[in-house]
Amino acid sequence: MEQTKIMAKLASLCVYCGSSTSVRPVYLEAAAELGQRAARRGIRIVFGGGRVGLMGAVADAALEAGGKVHGIIPRHLDDYEIGHRGTTELEIVESMHVRKMRMFEESDAFCILPGGFGTLDETFEMVTWVQLGLHEKPIVLVNVEGFWDPLLELVHHQIAENFVRPEHSGIIRVVDRVEQVFDAVAEVPDSRISPSAKWA
Ligand code: AMP
Repeated sequence: MEQTKIMAKLASLCVYCGSSTSVRPVYLEAAAELGQRAARRGIRIVFGGGRVGLMGAVADAALEAGGKVHGIIPRHLDDYEIGHRGTTELEIVESMHVRKMRMFEESDAFCILPGGFGTLDETFEMVTWVQLGLHEKPIVLVNVEGFWDPLLELVHHQIAENFVRPEHSGIIRVVDRVEQVFDAVAEVPDSRISPSAKWA
């Protein structure tokens, strides 16, 4: 019952991913697969609005499959990341902070593909907001060909050294393949995160 309720809410999926194009094709393919699968399910993609790298691959594939794509890009990055003019909606905002907040507001869940520093920043803002009890939207990380293994190892190290509570590791739902993303979003977490537990 609860699961149905959560699935019903997945109208918009925010994708955080790399803006680099000079990466192994398998990453770009995963991005395209995500865009295509989301479109086929009638799920709108919310993303950073760029035409480059995995960002562009997600958007292009979703649009090609007839899906809706909402890009949100700061004015100063519009040239640099080459704002994607083919999106069904391209929102130009004044700052990175506004971009991140608008991406959060427009989305029911978050999906992380391989990426660089920007992807990490966006991901961990959402992760820490769950930790602090500011939202409960699902966060799914796609570990394409083990790309995120070093990060997951770091998280285990943080837990082992008591900087992260073990139950908070579940905030990031890890899947190996893009096709598993939608089931992972629908999964009901074992327990709610208590923000007061953060420092207990
Ligand atoms: P990257 O993973 O570094 O290729 O960046 C992916 C996306 O994150 C791009 O759209 C960047 O503009 C964005 N980004 C980069 N740095 C930040 C930051 N500090 N805060 C939010 N987004 C960022």
